[in-house]
Amino acid sequence: MRRATIRTQAKQELIDITPQVERAVREAGVQEGICTVFVPHTTAGITINENADPSVKEDLAALLERLVPPGLHYRHAEGNSPAHIKASLVGSSVQVPVSGGRLQLGTWQGIIFCEFDGPRSREVWISVHS
Ligand code: ZN
Repeated sequence: MRRATIRTQAKQELIDITPQVERAVREAGVQEGICTVFVPHTTAGITINENADPSVKEDLAALLERLVPPGLHYRHAEGNSPAHIKASLVGSSVQVPVSGGRLQLGTWQGIIFCEFDGPRSREVWISVHS
């Protein structure tokens, strides 16, 4: 397993980490298999979506903000309940097929790390299984 560090710059930020995952797959040397990308945090998540047009990430971020607004009567005393809920909505892991030693993403797909309680230093754990 490889650990990549992601330094986020904002409270909420969606970051294309496809290049880091591709590097980890190359280093793993697995030709045919599956890559699991796991986020070991409760206020961040990961998803796959379009990386060609940055406005897709902006629309997703804006919609999540409307779905889970700050200022509701959340019970969690730490004050970051919206971040926890958004993390559950997007999920903590994705899997991508590996063939010919390369990630097999669709033409427009990218792997997007989702920060919901930044800025922070975050980890992403990348495993490649044959
Ligand atoms: Zn919390």
